[in-house]
Amino acid sequence: MECIFCAIARGEASALVVYQDEETMAFMDINPATPGHTLVIPRAHVRNIYELDDHTAAAIMNTVLRVARGIREAMEPDGLNLMQANERAAFQSVFHFHFHLVPRWTGDGLRPPWRPKPGEPLAIADAAERIRRALAAEGSGEPG
Ligand code: AMP
Ligand code: ZN
Repeated sequence: MECIFCAIARGEASALVVYQDEETMAFMDINPATPGHTLVIPRAHVRNIYELDDHTAAAIMNTVLRVARGIREAMEPDGLNLMQANERAAFQSVFHFHFHLVPRWTGDGLRPPWRPKPGEPLAIADAAERIRRALAAEGSGEPG
């Protein structure tokens, strides 16, 4: 079966991309747990954390850090969760390695399903645009 994240990485499926480089991509989760929910993937199809080589792992972590800073700049959440889950027991729906970056606000529940704060609906496209702007700005800085 076709891997949707591979299709996004090839530019053959649409996604609200906020950052990309040769090895990695970051785009908005289509079904956000909270506003600003962003996914970070390797472009190559790596099935799970055990299949990551050291170089790709470092590249992904670099992107995670960069995007985390952008989210902080763009949305000023009270916190940010970084999650990775593996395979069927974790109820995964896409078997292409990815990190979830989930901004959190005080008062959000500890477990899914999270909800956008009442009175603060933020369209996914708006969140993507804010994060892109933050990443383009000097303030986001160079990781590392
Ligand atoms: P998981 O269920 O942990 O494997 O995470 C996969 C995530 O990818 C879910 O949060 C989905 O909402 C998200 N997702 C699935 N398809 C797309 C897509 N085409 N664009 C953006 N996010 C997607
Ligand atoms: Zn894939």
